Amino acid sequence: MGPRQAWGALSIVFVLVDFAAAAILIDLGYETAPTLSGATVIAIVYAYVLYKRYHVEVVPENDIMLFEDRDDLRILCRIYGLDDSGETGALRQRLLKFARANSQRAFTWVAPKAVVSFGSALEIQPTSTPRQTTGKALGLPIGLAAADASPAAGSRGLLGGKARSSARLSGLTACPICEAGPPRSGAVCTECGADLEFYAVLQETRIGKRVLARKASAVRRKLRYDVPHLRSSR
Ligand SMILES: [Zn+2]
Repeated sequence: MGPRQAWGALSIVFVLVDFAAAAILIDLGYETAPTLSGATVIAIVYAYVLYKRYHVEVVPENDIMLFEDRDDLRILCRIYGLDDSGETGALRQRLLKFARANSQRAFTWVAPKAVVSFGSALEIQPTSTPRQTTGKALGLPIGLAAADASPAAGSRGLLGGKARSSARLSGLTACPICEAGPPRSGAVCTECGADLEFYAVLQETRIGKRVLARKASAVRRKLRYDVPHLRSSR
């Protein structure tokens, strides 16, 4: 069962329980109208949170190859409901598989494992729908291992195939990650070692904002506890 169907199953159960609870309250003597609107508000908030959190932007294969930081890859895995253990290569492989399976869409539904197993448990007939991952997921891009070696900032590409430009750098007022002021020269944050332009472009996407929010809090925590440089902690 895919994440979308799993959420569908869970949502049906949630809404049923929500309105069953309202019916019980009304039965106990609570006023009908406010109780029903309360239950409706709960259902709307649920739908909103679900959509905001689990309907996520798909980072295309080419862009996944540009992520070098293990923490970034782990954050992406977590957002996509994938296993976030292992080293850079394993994490990237998982993300590439995900990107390939969703290559036709800009956004897709993701779900934590618990939700998928809950949905599958509700499934009455084990349907054997052909998954689109067959065959397609097997081929790994050539040079995957080579891509693990991080080139110096400034030489790797930017997300979406954008070109690097000094205008983008000079428009930066602060590091997107640690909020330190940008260095007067160079494209790397002197405080946390981030490739400023790469993260500035990442910040322009919806999923990028989420990745950065998580990364920023982790990096600030690290800086606070006196880790001299992000790059040396890899
Ligand atoms: Zn920084």
